Amino acid sequence: MEKNSNIEKVVRQHAEMNSFFAGDFAIRAGSTTQKSVKAEESRNDVTKELEKIAAEVHQCRKCGLGSLRTNAVPGEGNPNARIMFVGEGPGADEDAQGRPFVGRAGQLLDKVITAMGLKRSEVFIGNILKCRPPDNRDPRPEEVISCLPYLQKQIELINPDIIVALGAHAARTLLNTNKSIGQLRGQFHQYYAGLGRPPIKLMATYHTAYLLRNYSRENRERVWEDMKKVLAELGLPIPERHRK
Ligand code: URA
Repeated sequence: MEKNSNIEKVVRQHAEMNSFFAGDFAIRAGSTTQKSVKAEESRNDVTKELEKIAAEVHQCRKCGLGSLRTNAVPGEGNPNARIMFVGEGPGADEDAQGRPFVGRAGQLLDKVITAMGLKRSEVFIGNILKCRPPDNRDPRPEEVISCLPYLQKQIELINPDIIVALGAHAARTLLNTNKSIGQLRGQFHQYYAGLGRPPIKLMATYHTAYLLRNYSRENRERVWEDMKKVLAELGLPIPERHRK
């Protein structure tokens, strides 16, 4: 009985999420979500460097998670992206496929990206941890310390205009703060990418997994408000939401 009502809940959430985030958003032709000025050559260099990082991640044994994984999940997306989404770490689906955000939280992230008028192929999606913590437990400090340099290097190479930190772990780690996600979300912060480099704007918002667990119109509206700020900051049009 309980199982049935859980299934019903998931189906209902899915349908409501769909109607909330997936209205008739036109994907803009010739979208300006990728940096247009970056030379082809330097883009190829970035792609090669990102591939090198991915290869290192696949070999990595810097922490205990390396021996527990099925697949490492280095992250994926456009080397020229103006937006980088950063989550906490792979879950079971991501561990099985070696790709970020492909489970339920990932499907919701896809809807958010579509609602923004963007395509997944236009952004970069990564995580603080590249290997799945057992039973999806929180990342441990020593794991974050070992793994973070991979993400830092990815950010440095891609040099996005905006980082969207999904959830408390990503936001706190990248901003080096203990503040709650409630305090951090909804405003732009500065991510310091290293000496001599200008800071990158970072928007913190709720993780899509949190959104699925704490399913309310209010929380969905908050994430959408945060994403509208990201679009406005990038000078991109804010698609009309046809259905609330
Ligand atoms: N949650 C995350 O934080 N990252 C993923 O890749 C998937 C789920």
